[in-house]
Amino acid sequence: MLTVEDLRVYFHVKRGLMGRRSYDVRAVDGVSFGLAHGQTLGLVGESGSGKSTIGRALLRLVGIHSGTIQLNGTDVRELRGRMLDFRRDLQAIFQDPYSLLNPSMIVADIVGEPLTIHYGLKGRQRDERVAQLLDQVGLATYHMERYPSEFSGGQRQRIAVARAIALEPQIIICDEAISALDVSTQSQVINLLKELQERLGLAYLFIAHDLAVVRHISDQIAVLYLGRIMEMGPAELICSAPRHPYTQLLISAIPVADPIEQKKRKAARSQLPPSELPSATNPPDGCPFHTRCPQAVSRCRNEVPLPRQVRPGEIVACHLID
Ligand code: SF4
Repeated sequence: MLTVEDLRVYFHVKRGLMGRRSYDVRAVDGVSFGLAHGQTLGLVGESGSGKSTIGRALLRLVGIHSGTIQLNGTDVRELRGRMLDFRRDLQAIFQDPYSLLNPSMIVADIVGEPLTIHYGLKGRQRDERVAQLLDQVGLATYHMERYPSEFSGGQRQRIAVARAIALEPQIIICDEAISALDVSTQSQVINLLKELQERLGLAYLFIAHDLAVVRHISDQIAVLYLGRIMEMGPAELICSAPRHPYTQLLISAIPVADPIEQKKRKAARSQLPPSELPSATNPPDGCPFHTRCPQAVSRCRNEVPLPRQVRPGEIVACHLID
């Protein structure tokens, strides 16, 4: 349904006196993936890994340097007169629902707005549909008359979900959609998303920095680092037997109940050199992860590892795989 091929998003930055020095920041640097009907692809990585930029490129909120994005076989850059259809098929939920929920509008108008724009629904007809949508996300009809400020964070995210599903999209991009919620509200929203997926056949691109959260909802996971995919494959495989040193590191940071396993993970983490994610404005040569990789060899410093298939449906970009 959604195919992304060799996607590159560069931001042109000007520095120095009169902006004389300029260079490109490679926020996304050659990313490819696919998303099928009713499936969830988790994009995971630290802040600055490019995961949110991918979501924004799909929503056409940022320009693409090169590569293709196809929705049902149509290149999104050639939509021209069909932008409304595209917006209907691809919806988004963000971390801060306030960015989407106008604080001066009541819920009936927030959720009903896309129905008016796309289908011309008004009055009672629209209110009936809004009531159905609120019911689908676990809110009541009387919530229609309330303002966003009268709801908890979890309820506001439910309103955002109701608005996102109003147009019966094929794909919802969930960009850190539950990151600001407490753990129990996170699992309630994840359960709601799974339930809606089953009922409506939705596909999700689930973007988050927390692999522990992503694994609960994803069928496939792509691990990103400095704008590139380090490892991608079935969620079960990625979480139970990661092959890339960076994925192994992310897994080791997930707390587990078993004290022996927890000790092993702590030991694995302690091997990591104490360094931050390098800046995307000045990425390292060779493997982007080599400045932090406990298993780096000399080749890693000057040769970029290409993604290779290592197990069915799984790719890894690491020289150790050779
Ligand atoms: Fe580590 Fe080298 Fe593999 Fe990069 S290519 S992850 S630096 S071993």
